Amino acid sequence: MKVISSINGMMKFSKSAKRQGRSIGFVPTMGALHKGHFSLIRKARIENDLVIVSIFVNPAQFGPKEDFSKYPRVFKLDLGVCKQAGVDVVFYPRVKEMYPSSYQTFVTVGELSDTLCGKSRPGHFTGVATVVTKLFNIVGPDTAYFGQKDAQQSVIIRRLSRDLNFPVRIRVVPTVREIDGLAMSSRNSYLNQRQRDEATVLNHSLELAKDLIRAGEKNPKEIIRCMKRLIGNIKSAKIDYIDIVGLEDLETVKKVSKGCLIALAVWIGKTRLIDNIIIDGA
Ligand code: AMP
Repeated sequence: MKVISSINGMMKFSKSAKRQGRSIGFVPTMGALHKGHFSLIRKARIENDLVIVSIFVNPAQFGPKEDFSKYPRVFKLDLGVCKQAGVDVVFYPRVKEMYPSSYQTFVTVGELSDTLCGKSRPGHFTGVATVVTKLFNIVGPDTAYFGQKDAQQSVIIRRLSRDLNFPVRIRVVPTVREIDGLAMSSRNSYLNQRQRDEATVLNHSLELAKDLIRAGEKNPKEIIRCMKRLIGNIKSAKIDYIDIVGLEDLETVKKVSKGCLIALAVWIGKTRLIDNIIIDGA
């Protein structure tokens, strides 16, 4: 397994791989790798000749009051995970090379960026779209892998990729959960034991929504009301948003139907967690 830090080095490697006709699967991450990342990498491993994982805590996607400086950075451990998963190259660029002081170009995907998480994290998805654009140009993947866990991000990347004609296939991989249902996330490490237990309420509220829909409830407002009531029982939990939206346009639906996305963000103490499900039958 190679570690490449320079942009030039990464571009050279990819060019040479392409010349040899080898397909590239790419998994962009911010590191602190867990089983969620692992499942993306495994999928990429199965479907491609070469697997490239980027590890880059992207400052452009953090707001000024967000957790950029305290975001977990455990590069050595991450290298172990990558090796175990059969990664060929870890791309580990420096912030200064990705965003030199002269840097001034940003990519914004329209309305899709302003809803759901975009409301409380203005500029976040511009940061995401910008770094993914840069990474696609540097790595030149045939297929890129993203997690359903960050549903809005996946929708935005698909849009970006189509709008800017990137010759990249986008694959979205199901959310990997802890045994008790909590979606795996690098930010779970911020939680103390009590908060960790209470954080399962995100998944429980989504399960409740599923049960209501199975029982015939189609009114999004009623479903959201029940979810809010459940989450309200947890003292440390503060809801940022709960919404039921169409999976393509992320617009709030009037009636729940198959393929809708139920998405939520909840603060557990000082940690903001997200989760979602896609309704598979209604
Ligand atoms: P991050 O390092 O948090 O930027 O995540 C890198 C990629 O891993 C993104 O495409 C995420 O959606 C994906 N990911 C994060 N957590 C999970 C999870 N629990 N299950 C599946 N994919 C995940």
